[in-house]
Amino acid sequence: MQDRCQDIGSARDPAGVLLATLICSDEDCARELDLPVEDLGDLDHAACDCGCTLVLLAVAEETPVTPVTPVTVRVLALAA
Ligand SMILES: [Zn+2]
Repeated sequence: MQDRCQDIGSARDPAGVLLATLICSDEDCARELDLPVEDLGDLDHAACDCGCTLVLLAVAEETPVTPVTPVTVRVLALAA
């Protein structure tokens, strides 16, 4: 599960961010995760849940896609 690692980025405002792909430096863990960050300096504080440091694999400019709001689906289902 990657949830705890991803919590690092989940509290941040996702608008206008870079998407950093990170991998745990521990080969036994090798957890990969994508973190949206406003600044690569934020990654200085990123660490895997196992306690090892995360290694930056790639950075992409990320324009977050607004997910289809589940509420809309629910309203349609109720109306049916
Ligand atoms: Zn790890």
